[in-house]
Amino acid sequence: MHSAAVYAIPMTTRFRGITVREGMLLQGPAGWGEFCAFPEYGDAEAAAWFAAAREAAEEGWPEPVRNTVPVNCIVPAVGPERAAEMVRASGCATAKVKVADHPDSAREDLERVAAVRDALGPAGHVRVDANARWDVDTAVREIRALDAAAGGLQYVEQPCPSVEELAAVRRRVDVRIAADESIRRAEDPLRVAVAGAADVAILKCLPLGGVRRALRVAEACGLPCVVSSALESSVGLAAEIALAAALPELEFACGLGTGRLFTTDVVPDADRLIPRDGVLPVLRTAPEPVRRAEVAAGPEREAWWRARAERVALL
Ligand SMILES: [Mg+2]
Repeated sequence: MHSAAVYAIPMTTRFRGITVREGMLLQGPAGWGEFCAFPEYGDAEAAAWFAAAREAAEEGWPEPVRNTVPVNCIVPAVGPERAAEMVRASGCATAKVKVADHPDSAREDLERVAAVRDALGPAGHVRVDANARWDVDTAVREIRALDAAAGGLQYVEQPCPSVEELAAVRRRVDVRIAADESIRRAEDPLRVAVAGAADVAILKCLPLGGVRRALRVAEACGLPCVVSSALESSVGLAAEIALAAALPELEFACGLGTGRLFTTDVVPDADRLIPRDGVLPVLRTAPEPVRRAEVAAGPEREAWWRARAERVALL
């Protein structure tokens, strides 16, 4: 690969405990790729992220089958008024609402979901993400209540940690179950038996090792897929969009509106991959990260990322 740059960009709001997102941009003959495995991840897990960056830089992506990708808006654990405002401002027809943020969140979750339904109207879609924080009985109780409050949920994402628990919840509720962490952090995502445990698979191509590998995971799991971001700059987001664009079927809106969570980006403002009217355009290559100097991480972090990239490139 020809050149590399490390960025550090503050987030607009703390997300997944992160206030400053860091990543490394790699240029090759096919364009730019992004290596941004979360710093706490070990080398073995980070190696898949590196493979995704290398695919973008050296090989490029498979042919798209669509020109735009519909996206959902994200509603974090905020009050009902703020939740409704966020939905209206997004222009999206689908909203993903974070729930189970803390142990006593049940009442707030119901109010937030009801407010989101009001803001979207009856034709919109409401989905919730519990990030594996419930046990089976809690999940069954909360999903039923949230489904009623939302006037119908599109699906519930990762209600419990294990595949076995997802299957147990799925047998007891009428709402679709989506598997996220169960697939992404599995030892071998190609072999996760989600059939019977989930109705929808959440895919993120950077953690899965690239667009082609994620397409194989999609085929192996045999479920409708939703592509979601791993909190990338616009360079990495372009790869996630390439995956959404190459999936043979795309029934649901994707979780790729996270560009808004960055205060700035590695690309010019006009090239930022931020949804307009609820959709993102499909690009053939990642936009050029011309703002590398402005968003450069300090020398210490730069050295850390370069050393990490060298280690995982050998795995
Ligand atoms: Mg999730």
